[in-house]
Amino acid sequence: MKVLITETLRIDLDTEMWECRRCGHAHIGARQNYKAGLLVHDRDPREVHKPLLDTRLYERTYSPDPAWCRILEYYCPQCGTLVEAEYLPPGHPPLHDIELDIDALKAQWKDRPEMPEPAQAPDLSLERVLRARALHASVHHGHQHGAQHDESAANPAR
Ligand SMILES: [Zn+2]
Repeated sequence: MKVLITETLRIDLDTEMWECRRCGHAHIGARQNYKAGLLVHDRDPREVHKPLLDTRLYERTYSPDPAWCRILEYYCPQCGTLVEAEYLPPGHPPLHDIELDIDALKAQWKDRPEMPEPAQAPDLSLERVLRARALHASVHHGHQHGAQHDESAANPAR
């Protein structure tokens, strides 16, 4: 039984291993911090958040100071999928951000069917747009918006 945990991580309850959801690589024991089974790129935050001001003129440039902040990126060692990124002070150990009770998880999933993909909720914002369009079409049905109505100019995306 494999249980989905994040977009890129799952736990195999039979082997008690963290796994990559993209390639199936077994990272590390599920009772440990999954980050210890991944590749880490310790990045200078100035590479990610470029200075917004001239660094020759200003000490503070809206770019993080690498003496105070690092960006740790964690990658699957087999397929290279980015699993997590976190901002930490230099030298700080990786955060243990997902610590699950594996025995409770096993009990919870004992009688459930495996879900290889997450359940999809309806796209409510799309439904709202479609409803608004249908309402607009019903209200404006049969007449045009302007004297010289040009369908292509009014809605170039179509
Ligand atoms: Zn992978």
